[in-house]
Amino acid sequence: HAKANSRGTTLLFSQDLDRTLKRRDLIEQGLRQADLDTELIVLMQPLVNVAQGRVVAFEALARWHSPHLGTISPGEFIAVAEVADLIQPMTEILLAKALAPVSDWPYEIGLSFNLSARDIISPHLVRRMARIITESGVAPERITFEVTETALISDFDQAKANLEDLKTIGCRIALDDFGTGFSSLSYVHRLPLDRLKIDRSFTSEMETVPVCRDIVGTMVLMSRNLGLSCVAEGVESAAQVALLRALGCDTMQGYFFAKPMPIEHLAGFLDGFSDAAAGSGTACAA
Ligand code: C2E
Ligand code: MG
Ligand code: MG
Ligand code: MG
Repeated sequence: HAKANSRGTTLLFSQDLDRTLKRRDLIEQGLRQADLDTELIVLMQPLVNVAQGRVVAFEALARWHSPHLGTISPGEFIAVAEVADLIQPMTEILLAKALAPVSDWPYEIGLSFNLSARDIISPHLVRRMARIITESGVAPERITFEVTETALISDFDQAKANLEDLKTIGCRIALDDFGTGFSSLSYVHRLPLDRLKIDRSFTSEMETVPVCRDIVGTMVLMSRNLGLSCVAEGVESAAQVALLRALGCDTMQGYFFAKPMPIEHLAGFLDGFSDAAAGSGTACAA
Protein backbone atom coordinates (compact mmCIF):
# COMPACT_ATOMS: atom_id res chain seq x y z
CA HIS A 1 0.00 0.00 0.00
CA ALA A 2 0.85 3.68 -0.07
CA LYS A 3 3.05 3.70 3.02
CA ALA A 4 5.29 0.84 1.91
CA ASN A 5 5.41 2.37 -1.50
CA SER A 6 6.64 5.72 -0.25
CA ARG A 7 9.28 4.02 1.93
CA GLY A 8 10.47 2.06 -1.05
CA THR A 9 10.82 5.28 -3.00
CA THR A 10 12.78 6.93 -0.21
CA LEU A 11 15.14 3.99 -0.06
CA LEU A 12 15.65 4.14 -3.81
CA PHE A 13 16.36 7.86 -3.63
CA SER A 14 18.92 7.45 -0.91
CA GLN A 15 20.65 4.64 -2.82
CA ASP A 16 20.76 6.88 -5.88
CA LEU A 17 22.09 9.75 -3.82
CA ASP A 18 24.71 7.51 -2.30
CA ARG A 19 25.84 6.31 -5.70
CA THR A 20 25.95 9.88 -7.02
CA LEU A 21 28.03 11.07 -4.07
CA LYS A 22 30.45 8.15 -4.40
CA ARG A 23 30.88 8.86 -8.09
CA ARG A 24 31.38 12.56 -7.36
CA ASP A 25 34.03 11.67 -4.82
CA LEU A 26 35.82 9.34 -7.22
CA ILE A 27 35.89 12.07 -9.84
CA GLU A 28 37.17 14.66 -7.40
CA GLN A 29 39.95 12.36 -6.14
CA GLY A 30 40.75 11.40 -9.72
CA LEU A 31 40.98 15.02 -10.81
CA ARG A 32 43.26 15.91 -7.91
CA GLN A 33 45.67 13.14 -8.84
CA ALA A 34 45.34 13.54 -12.59
CA ASP A 35 48.02 14.76 -14.93
CA LEU A 36 45.61 17.26 -16.46
CA ASP A 37 48.10 18.34 -19.13
CA THR A 38 47.92 14.94 -20.75
CA GLU A 39 44.55 13.59 -19.59
CA LEU A 40 42.39 16.55 -20.66
CA ILE A 41 41.49 16.30 -24.33
CA VAL A 42 39.74 18.73 -26.65
CA LEU A 43 37.32 17.51 -29.31
CA MET A 44 36.00 19.86 -31.97
CA GLN A 45 32.53 20.10 -33.49
CA PRO A 46 31.81 22.33 -36.52
CA LEU A 47 29.28 25.17 -36.69
CA VAL A 48 28.04 25.11 -40.28
CA ASN A 49 26.43 27.91 -42.27
CA VAL A 50 24.17 25.84 -44.49
CA ALA A 51 23.22 28.72 -46.79
CA GLN A 52 26.86 29.50 -47.56
CA GLY A 53 28.04 25.90 -47.42
CA ARG A 54 30.91 26.67 -45.09
CA VAL A 55 32.24 25.91 -41.64
CA VAL A 56 31.98 29.07 -39.53
CA ALA A 57 33.79 27.80 -36.46
CA PHE A 58 34.72 24.77 -34.41
CA GLU A 59 33.53 24.48 -30.82
CA ALA A 60 36.02 22.96 -28.39
CA LEU A 61 34.40 20.27 -26.22
CA ALA A 62 36.43 18.85 -23.35
CA ARG A 63 36.90 15.21 -22.40
CA TRP A 64 38.84 13.77 -19.50
CA HIS A 65 40.62 10.52 -20.30
CA SER A 66 41.21 9.17 -16.83
CA PRO A 67 43.45 6.10 -16.70
CA HIS A 68 41.35 4.86 -13.75
CA LEU A 69 37.81 5.96 -14.59
CA GLY A 70 37.81 5.93 -18.39
CA THR A 71 36.53 8.81 -20.51
CA ILE A 72 34.46 11.28 -18.52
CA SER A 73 32.25 13.90 -20.14
CA PRO A 74 32.30 17.58 -19.18
CA GLY A 75 28.71 17.32 -17.98
CA GLU A 76 30.17 15.30 -15.13
CA PHE A 77 33.63 16.64 -14.40
CA ILE A 78 33.28 20.40 -14.94
CA ALA A 79 30.85 20.84 -12.04
CA VAL A 80 33.06 18.74 -9.76
CA ALA A 81 36.13 20.72 -10.81
CA GLU A 82 34.34 23.96 -9.97
CA VAL A 83 33.42 22.88 -6.46
CA ALA A 84 36.87 21.36 -5.88
CA ASP A 85 38.50 24.61 -6.98
CA LEU A 86 40.30 22.94 -9.88
CA ILE A 87 38.55 24.73 -12.71
CA GLN A 88 41.02 27.55 -13.27
CA PRO A 89 44.04 25.45 -14.25
CA MET A 90 41.71 23.21 -16.27
CA THR A 91 40.31 26.12 -18.25
CA GLU A 92 43.83 27.35 -19.00
CA ILE A 93 44.98 23.93 -20.21
CA LEU A 94 41.83 23.51 -22.31
CA LEU A 95 42.08 26.94 -23.93
CA ALA A 96 45.74 26.37 -24.84
CA LYS A 97 44.87 22.99 -26.37
CA ALA A 98 41.88 24.42 -28.22
CA LEU A 99 43.93 27.28 -29.67
CA ALA A 100 46.80 25.06 -30.81
CA PRO A 101 45.24 23.98 -34.15
CA VAL A 102 43.51 27.27 -35.03
CA SER A 103 46.44 28.71 -37.00
CA ASP A 104 46.19 25.73 -39.38
CA TRP A 105 42.60 26.56 -40.32
CA PRO A 106 41.44 28.99 -43.01
CA TYR A 107 41.23 32.43 -41.39
CA GLU A 108 37.41 32.63 -41.67
CA ILE A 109 37.04 29.65 -39.35
CA GLY A 110 36.87 30.65 -35.72
CA LEU A 111 37.10 28.87 -32.39
CA SER A 112 34.28 28.65 -29.86
CA PHE A 113 35.31 27.97 -26.26
CA ASN A 114 33.04 27.28 -23.27
CA LEU A 115 33.57 29.12 -20.01
CA SER A 116 32.20 27.68 -16.77
CA ALA A 117 30.19 29.55 -14.17
CA ARG A 118 33.22 29.92 -11.91
CA ASP A 119 35.42 31.13 -14.77
CA ILE A 120 33.00 33.85 -15.72
CA ILE A 121 32.88 35.44 -12.29
CA SER A 122 36.62 35.26 -11.65
CA PRO A 123 38.20 38.74 -11.46
CA HIS A 124 41.35 37.26 -13.04
CA LEU A 125 39.61 35.62 -15.99
CA VAL A 126 40.47 38.11 -18.71
CA ARG A 127 44.12 38.52 -17.74
CA ARG A 128 44.56 34.73 -17.75
CA MET A 129 42.74 34.24 -21.05
CA ALA A 130 44.59 37.14 -22.69
CA ARG A 131 47.97 35.65 -21.76
CA ILE A 132 47.09 32.28 -23.31
CA ILE A 133 45.67 33.91 -26.43
CA THR A 134 48.82 36.00 -26.90
CA GLU A 135 51.04 32.94 -26.45
CA SER A 136 49.01 31.08 -29.08
CA GLY A 137 49.41 33.80 -31.70
CA VAL A 138 45.74 33.45 -32.67
CA ALA A 139 43.91 36.70 -33.48
CA PRO A 140 41.39 37.38 -30.67
CA GLU A 141 38.74 38.18 -33.32
CA ARG A 142 38.68 34.47 -34.19
CA ILE A 143 37.74 33.44 -30.65
CA THR A 144 34.19 33.29 -29.27
CA PHE A 145 33.64 32.60 -25.60
CA GLU A 146 30.41 30.73 -24.84
CA VAL A 147 28.60 31.36 -21.57
CA THR A 148 25.24 30.15 -20.30
CA GLU A 149 22.60 32.37 -18.75
CA THR A 150 22.72 30.30 -15.57
CA ALA A 151 26.45 30.91 -15.22
CA LEU A 152 25.93 34.67 -15.11
CA ILE A 153 23.44 34.69 -12.25
CA SER A 154 25.65 34.38 -9.19
CA ASP A 155 27.51 37.63 -9.86
CA PHE A 156 25.98 39.36 -12.83
CA ASP A 157 28.03 42.55 -12.49
CA GLN A 158 31.39 40.75 -12.43
CA ALA A 159 30.29 38.48 -15.28
CA LYS A 160 29.20 41.47 -17.34
CA ALA A 161 32.47 43.29 -16.65
CA ASN A 162 34.45 40.21 -17.72
CA LEU A 163 32.48 39.84 -20.93
CA GLU A 164 33.02 43.52 -21.70
CA ASP A 165 36.76 43.13 -21.09
CA LEU A 166 36.87 40.05 -23.33
CA LYS A 167 35.22 42.18 -26.01
CA THR A 168 37.76 44.93 -25.44
CA ILE A 169 40.63 42.56 -26.20
CA GLY A 170 38.82 41.65 -29.43
CA CYS A 171 37.06 38.38 -28.60
CA ARG A 172 33.41 37.60 -29.26
CA ILE A 173 30.70 36.32 -26.92
CA ALA A 174 27.93 33.76 -27.42
CA LEU A 175 25.02 33.03 -25.09
CA ASP A 176 24.89 29.21 -24.96
CA ASP A 177 21.86 26.97 -24.27
CA PHE A 178 19.67 29.99 -24.91
CA GLY A 179 16.14 29.59 -23.58
CA THR A 180 16.93 27.07 -20.85
CA GLY A 181 18.19 29.34 -18.07
CA PHE A 182 16.36 32.09 -16.30
CA SER A 183 15.90 33.61 -19.73
CA SER A 184 15.52 37.15 -18.59
CA LEU A 185 15.43 39.04 -21.85
CA SER A 186 17.02 41.98 -20.09
CA TYR A 187 20.30 40.02 -20.09
CA VAL A 188 20.31 39.86 -23.80
CA HIS A 189 20.52 43.59 -24.28
CA ARG A 190 22.63 44.33 -21.20
CA LEU A 191 25.43 42.01 -22.28
CA PRO A 192 27.88 42.57 -25.14
CA LEU A 193 26.73 39.53 -27.13
CA ASP A 194 27.54 38.51 -30.69
CA ARG A 195 25.71 35.20 -30.99
CA LEU A 196 22.77 33.31 -29.52
CA LYS A 197 22.83 29.53 -29.47
CA ILE A 198 19.37 27.98 -29.46
CA ASP A 199 19.40 25.07 -27.05
CA ARG A 200 19.13 21.52 -28.36
CA SER A 201 15.88 20.96 -26.44
CA PHE A 202 14.10 23.38 -28.81
CA THR A 203 15.72 21.94 -31.92
CA SER A 204 14.76 18.40 -31.00
CA GLU A 205 11.14 19.23 -30.17
CA MET A 206 10.43 21.81 -32.83
CA GLU A 207 9.00 19.30 -35.32
CA THR A 208 6.56 17.71 -32.90
CA VAL A 209 5.72 20.54 -30.50
CA PRO A 210 4.27 23.55 -32.34
CA VAL A 211 5.09 25.95 -29.52
CA CYS A 212 8.77 24.94 -29.75
CA ARG A 213 8.75 25.78 -33.43
CA ASP A 214 7.23 29.18 -32.60
CA ILE A 215 9.85 29.76 -29.92
CA VAL A 216 12.67 28.93 -32.32
CA GLY A 217 11.17 31.30 -34.89
CA THR A 218 10.92 34.02 -32.24
CA MET A 219 14.54 33.50 -31.12
CA VAL A 220 15.70 33.77 -34.73
CA LEU A 221 13.79 37.03 -35.22
CA MET A 222 15.01 38.37 -31.92
CA SER A 223 18.65 37.69 -32.78
CA ARG A 224 18.19 39.33 -36.16
CA ASN A 225 16.56 42.42 -34.61
CA LEU A 226 19.38 42.70 -32.08
CA GLY A 227 22.05 42.24 -34.75
CA LEU A 228 23.26 38.94 -33.30
CA SER A 229 24.08 35.81 -35.20
CA CYS A 230 22.05 32.75 -34.34
CA VAL A 231 23.10 29.11 -34.17
CA ALA A 232 20.82 26.12 -33.62
CA GLU A 233 22.37 23.39 -31.46
CA GLY A 234 21.74 19.67 -31.60
CA VAL A 235 20.70 19.38 -35.26
CA GLU A 236 20.40 15.67 -36.05
CA SER A 237 18.26 15.38 -39.20
CA ALA A 238 17.75 16.80 -42.68
CA ALA A 239 14.18 17.63 -41.68
CA GLN A 240 15.46 19.82 -38.84
CA VAL A 241 17.88 21.55 -41.23
CA ALA A 242 15.00 22.31 -43.60
CA LEU A 243 12.72 23.61 -40.86
CA LEU A 244 15.46 25.79 -39.36
CA ARG A 245 16.17 27.29 -42.76
CA ALA A 246 12.47 27.98 -43.23
CA LEU A 247 12.51 29.76 -39.86
CA GLY A 248 15.47 31.88 -40.99
CA CYS A 249 18.28 30.15 -39.10
CA ASP A 250 21.20 29.29 -41.40
CA THR A 251 23.94 28.33 -38.95
CA MET A 252 23.72 25.00 -37.21
CA GLN A 253 25.64 22.50 -35.16
CA GLY A 254 24.90 18.88 -34.43
CA TYR A 255 25.42 15.22 -35.21
CA PHE A 256 23.82 15.70 -38.64
CA PHE A 257 26.99 17.54 -39.69
CA ALA A 258 29.54 15.92 -37.42
CA LYS A 259 30.00 14.60 -33.92
CA PRO A 260 32.75 16.20 -31.84
CA MET A 261 36.01 14.84 -33.29
CA PRO A 262 39.67 14.67 -32.38
CA ILE A 263 41.82 17.56 -33.60
CA GLU A 264 43.76 15.17 -35.86
CA HIS A 265 40.59 14.55 -37.89
CA LEU A 266 39.85 18.21 -38.65
CA ALA A 267 41.94 18.58 -41.81
CA GLY A 268 40.32 15.51 -43.33
CA PHE A 269 36.88 16.73 -42.28
CA LEU A 270 37.44 20.14 -43.90
CA ASP A 271 38.64 18.51 -47.15
CA GLY A 272 35.59 16.26 -47.29
CA PHE A 273 33.30 19.13 -46.37
CA SER A 274 34.49 21.47 -49.13
CA ASP A 275 34.25 18.63 -51.68
CA ALA A 276 30.66 17.94 -50.58
CA ALA A 277 29.76 21.63 -50.63
CA ALA A 278 31.30 22.06 -54.10
CA GLY A 279 29.53 18.96 -55.38
CA SER A 280 26.02 19.86 -54.28
CA GLY A 281 26.10 23.64 -54.30
CA THR A 282 25.09 23.63 -50.64
CA ALA A 283 26.55 21.92 -47.63
CA CYS A 284 25.30 18.49 -46.78
CA ALA A 285 26.22 16.01 -44.09
CA ALA A 286 29.94 15.45 -44.33
P1 C2E B 1 27.37 22.89 -24.85
O1 C2E B 1 28.43 23.92 -24.91
O2 C2E B 1 25.97 23.35 -25.00
O3 C2E B 1 27.77 21.83 -25.95
C1 C2E B 1 26.85 21.06 -26.69
C2 C2E B 1 26.78 19.64 -26.19
O4 C2E B 1 25.85 18.91 -27.03
C3 C2E B 1 28.08 18.86 -26.30
O5 C2E B 1 28.07 17.89 -25.25
C4 C2E B 1 27.96 18.16 -27.65
O6 C2E B 1 28.78 17.01 -27.74
C5 C2E B 1 26.51 17.81 -27.64
N1 C2E B 1 25.95 17.70 -28.99
C6 C2E B 1 26.34 18.34 -30.12
N2 C2E B 1 25.56 18.02 -31.17
C7 C2E B 1 24.63 17.16 -30.70
C8 C2E B 1 23.53 16.47 -31.31
O7 C2E B 1 23.24 16.60 -32.49
N3 C2E B 1 22.79 15.66 -30.50
C9 C2E B 1 23.08 15.48 -29.16
N4 C2E B 1 22.33 14.65 -28.46
N5 C2E B 1 24.11 16.13 -28.55
C10 C2E B 1 24.87 16.96 -29.32
P2 C2E B 1 29.38 17.64 -24.36
O8 C2E B 1 30.59 17.64 -25.25
O9 C2E B 1 29.13 16.47 -23.49
O10 C2E B 1 29.45 18.96 -23.47
C11 C2E B 1 28.42 19.23 -22.55
C12 C2E B 1 28.58 20.60 -21.95
O11 C2E B 1 29.77 20.67 -21.17
C13 C2E B 1 28.73 21.70 -22.98
O12 C2E B 1 27.45 22.08 -23.46
C14 C2E B 1 29.41 22.78 -22.17
O13 C2E B 1 28.47 23.50 -21.42
C15 C2E B 1 30.27 21.96 -21.23
N6 C2E B 1 31.66 21.94 -21.75
C16 C2E B 1 32.19 21.26 -22.77
N7 C2E B 1 33.50 21.52 -22.92
C17 C2E B 1 33.81 22.42 -21.97
C18 C2E B 1 35.01 23.12 -21.62
O14 C2E B 1 36.09 22.99 -22.23
N8 C2E B 1 34.94 23.98 -20.55
C19 C2E B 1 33.77 24.19 -19.87
N9 C2E B 1 33.76 25.04 -18.85
N10 C2E B 1 32.63 23.57 -20.20
C20 C2E B 1 32.65 22.69 -21.22
MG1 MG C 1 28.86 25.52 -25.93
MG1 MG D 1 24.70 24.52 -25.70
MG1 MG E 1 24.88 22.59 -22.75
